[in-house]
Amino acid sequence: PTLSHDSPIPIHRRSTRQLHVGAVPVGGGAPVSVQTMTTTNTADVDATLRQIAEVTAAGCDIVRVAVPSADDAAALPTIVAKSPIPVIADIHFQPRYVFAALDAGCAAVRVNPGNIKKFDDKVAEIARAASAAHTPIRIGVNAGSLDPRLLAKHGSASPEALVESALWECSLFEEHGFTDLKIAVKHHDPLVMIAANRLLASRCDYPLHLGVTEAGPAFQGAIKSAVAFGILLAEGIGDTIRVSLSTDPVEQVKAGCHILSSLGLRPRKLEIVSCPGCGRLQVDIHRLATQVEAAFDGFPHPLRIAVMGCVVNGPGESREADLGVSCGNGKGQIYRHGQVIKTVPESRIVEALLDEALHLTSDLPAE
Ligand code: SF4
Repeated sequence: PTLSHDSPIPIHRRSTRQLHVGAVPVGGGAPVSVQTMTTTNTADVDATLRQIAEVTAAGCDIVRVAVPSADDAAALPTIVAKSPIPVIADIHFQPRYVFAALDAGCAAVRVNPGNIKKFDDKVAEIARAASAAHTPIRIGVNAGSLDPRLLAKHGSASPEALVESALWECSLFEEHGFTDLKIAVKHHDPLVMIAANRLLASRCDYPLHLGVTEAGPAFQGAIKSAVAFGILLAEGIGDTIRVSLSTDPVEQVKAGCHILSSLGLRPRKLEIVSCPGCGRLQVDIHRLATQVEAAFDGFPHPLRIAVMGCVVNGPGESREADLGVSCGNGKGQIYRHGQVIKTVPESRIVEALLDEALHLTSDLPAE
């Protein structure tokens, strides 16, 4: 049997150079990768590795760790050696930690031109060292830490100012023959961030890292990121993403994975198509959808499951899904691949869906 998880409308991705962050290709048609940053003290190696394991389990492809001190830099070799996914060192203010990160074998280094004073003088040295280590550099330009010279010139962190900063920084590396670069231009306002990335995409062929910086608490931040990333990714812009939320990095990764799977850019895992409910409801649809989600958490196959409140849209959505339930009058009609299999009382709907899911996937290897 086949499971219905692929998007019927493919996205035509922008053509870019490709680089490799460790084993993960970025740009050049590679799958869009999901990143996050650890929130532990990087120097606390055990805690950092524990969090890296958690985000990896949630679907993270690349992890970034902050390197604000010499102790953090000293922890990098162990973290890099033991991390199951590539580690990027995130460096502000201190060019010397860039060299420490390269020596430690970090898969990439992120620098912020606005924050590294005397950076112009250091570029040749960084380009030489990164080139020798075959390590890409991410130029990260944030509205909150834009180069003061460009802020003065443009009057605000406008899309033009962000793009000029990023491309100027790239040109410094290019002068030294180093082009293993990817770029992020981030702003807390999705519309500015979208405009900046469109402009950047039209002016260079470097892979782009998307982020709405300081997006906010989980609900607001996830929506802001989904809006901005959704528009850009649907236009083919964006090669790696990070959802910045004021919450656990695991949640950031889950949000990133959901955004990609919503666009058909990552195979869907569990997808629940559930109705919001209305005055026609004769079952507790909110509780039922939550119970189905919990019951299928970690299910090893991608499934689309329709959980519908009544016969208005229930049979139609249930027929389109791998499994479905169309409810009414305290009962649920269970569908499997478009066929009604049985009718069960509300209290047995979750159990019946699980039974049918196991039946449906018994011949498939776990994913
Ligand atoms: Fe209302 Fe039925 Fe639509 Fe659910 S499927 S929102 S209960 S009309």
